[in-house]
Formats: sequence, C-alpha cells, structure tokens
Amino acid sequence: MTKFILAALFSIVSLSSFSWAQMVPEPRATEVWNKEPVKITPGDHGAPPSDAIILDHSAWQSINGGENPWDNQNGVMTVKPGAKDIRTKKSFGDVQLHVEWRIPELDEKFVSQDRGNSGVFLQQFYEVQVLDSYENKTYNNGQAGSLYKQHIPLVNATKPAMEWQSYDIIYTAPRFGKNGAVISQARMTVIHNGVLIQNNVSLTGPTLYIGAPAYEAHGNLPIYLQDHDHKVSYRNIWVREL
Ligand code: MG
Repeated sequence: MTKFILAALFSIVSLSSFSWAQMVPEPRATEVWNKEPVKITPGDHGAPPSDAIILDHSAWQSINGGENPWDNQNGVMTVKPGAKDIRTKKSFGDVQLHVEWRIPELDEKFVSQDRGNSGVFLQQFYEVQVLDSYENKTYNNGQAGSLYKQHIPLVNATKPAMEWQSYDIIYTAPRFGKNGAVISQARMTVIHNGVLIQNNVSLTGPTLYIGAPAYEAHGNLPIYLQDHDHKVSYRNIWVREL
C-alpha cells in the first residue's frame, strides 16, 4: 500500500514537473536569428548613410526632360523662378527622403502662400509643403509641413527665414489593383527639424489646389521640387528606397 501511494505521488510530481516544463516558454522561442538587417554606416546630423542615393543638382532634370534649370552653388540648389518644377531622373516607390531647405529673406509684402512657397512632391503628386511659416499666417492645411490641403502638421516646428531646416519623410506609395482600384492609400510620416509633424497619415489622393482629390493608378514616379516663384534653396537631399 505504501509502495502504491509513493508511486502515485511520484507520478503526480513527474507529471506536474513535465507540464511545468512545457508551459514555461524559453527565451529562445521568441528570438529571431534569421532576417538579419543589412549593416550600414549612418551619417551624422542628417548626413547621408552609406546606402542612400544622393540627389544633388545632377540627379534632377527639368519637367520637360532637359538639364536641371535651377541654380547650383556649392551644393546648394535654388529655385529659378519661372524655370518651373524639377524632377528626379530616377523614379521611386516607397522611400525615406531627407531634404534640407531654406527660405530666402523676404520683405513684409510677401504674406500667406506668397512667402517662401515651394514643395517636395513624392511620386510627383503628393506634396509636403515648403513655406515660411515662422510668423506668417495662412490656412493651416497649407502651412509648412502640411500635406497640402489634406493634413495640418501636429505642431509648427518652423525656423526663421535664412536658417536651414530639414524634412525627413517616410513615404509609402499607394497600391492599386485591377482597373486602377485603390488597394491602399499613400501614407506619410514627416519629421520637421527633428520633430514629428505627420504621423503615418493617409492621403485621399494627389495634392490639389482646388477640389477633392481622387486617385489614378500609377507606378514608380520621380520626386518633384516646386517652383512657386520664390528663391527657396535646397541642399543635402538623399533618398533610401524601401
Ligand atoms: Mg508649395
């Protein structure tokens, strides 16, 4: 009898310890050792990392396909008013884009949208507004860092004219299915001078000055910079394809 009780006790203990071992997960069960991220060398203070494509003056062309008509001095590219927008020679889909921009000194007669206006267009159609929004009232969905007419920035992180500013943009291209149906809208995250101002927001379609936007299916397209008649300067533009 005692033998039987001891055997029963032993099996209960064995069973419970077996169950315990099965139920407590090991740390390695959730460790991922494959899919190692590619090692790159990051740059300091907005300098391009080793896997970036540099978008200097020679990486851009006129919207008609000719030479880049904008001014180019010591790595600083400046809008040539009237020369129209420029676009990258290369087309892109999903990207991380770094852009530095500077509003020129302007007198007080230039106000609202007519004050340091330019813009960074992802895939030709989707604008992150560039504007002097330091002390310049305009409609909120048209100020610097707005996704023009669609998303107001979370805060106004603008610096004064003549100071260099930066945008770091994470862009997810829209996806289209058969017959041009929208599977997923374009999305953007924007960091302005180190501050998050657009947090993975969706766009309802291309940037429009008037009216409600609607998507038309497209594939990879160039990045555009806008000529809006103001001598806005750009430097240190680089992009990483995602
Ligand atoms: Mg603009």
